[in-house]
Amino acid sequence: MKVTFYGVRGSVPTPGKETSRYGGNTPCTVLESNNGQKLILDAGTGLRIASCEFSDYPLPINILLSHHHWDHIQGFPFFSPVFKKNSQITIYPGQTDTQHDTAILDQMSKSYFPVKYHQVPSTITIKKTDFSEGYDIGDFHIQSMKMNHPDGGTAFRIFCDNKLLIYATDNELLAPESHNKHGVQDWVKFCEDSDMLIHDAQYLAHEMNDKLGWGHSSIDETLNLAELANVKLLCLFSHDPLRTDDQLDDLTARILGEKPPYSFFFAKEGRSLTL
Ligand SMILES: [Zn+2]
Repeated sequence: MKVTFYGVRGSVPTPGKETSRYGGNTPCTVLESNNGQKLILDAGTGLRIASCEFSDYPLPINILLSHHHWDHIQGFPFFSPVFKKNSQITIYPGQTDTQHDTAILDQMSKSYFPVKYHQVPSTITIKKTDFSEGYDIGDFHIQSMKMNHPDGGTAFRIFCDNKLLIYATDNELLAPESHNKHGVQDWVKFCEDSDMLIHDAQYLAHEMNDKLGWGHSSIDETLNLAELANVKLLCLFSHDPLRTDDQLDDLTARILGEKPPYSFFFAKEGRSLTL
């Protein structure tokens, strides 16, 4: 299974010279099986860049959404297959507290966007799906768990090519009661023995005083989860808009010095790897 990052920034796009190396686009990751089937995780502004992967893609396009906050849907109106007649795009909406399955299309309505979703030539299907007991999309077998986030959302366990990848962006591990769907032990079980864990790591430990309840984890909380869950490779994801490239380099050096029992990296736009 190949994993390519097109957007790794949390909350809001952050163009600028201090974020150019790790990237300023909001979440979008593309998985590809050994057979060449692709699965898109989230439709943040990185999805616009991911269009290049789909110019000659002959198969239906599938997009899993963790939830519908703007930074996870805002790239969709700029995804070039939307404007091609033969494209068949299926969107699996996030499991949000207030069900709003059409959120990604509603941003292409009223006065939000010049082209309305019902005017585009592609075929777009919203497919509300319960992944909790397992569901297959082509080569990908997917399970889910509700994430700890204001307005809710979905984290995914994705099996493909005998590898297990966990995608849990915008998940607050030590969330207050208002959106604490699962405790740390549940997350350990969900992530256990995974080949790769992509997990929110937006804040530093000392920032959590001000950010408690905002729906994101600290880097240290995520490192702890990876260790407890015996994860092989940890990808720290959803960087704070204020986190600079140099700070992420310094954090990498700090964590390397702690000699964690797993491999890790801070997600970087454009990076691709094969599990
Ligand atoms: Zn969110």
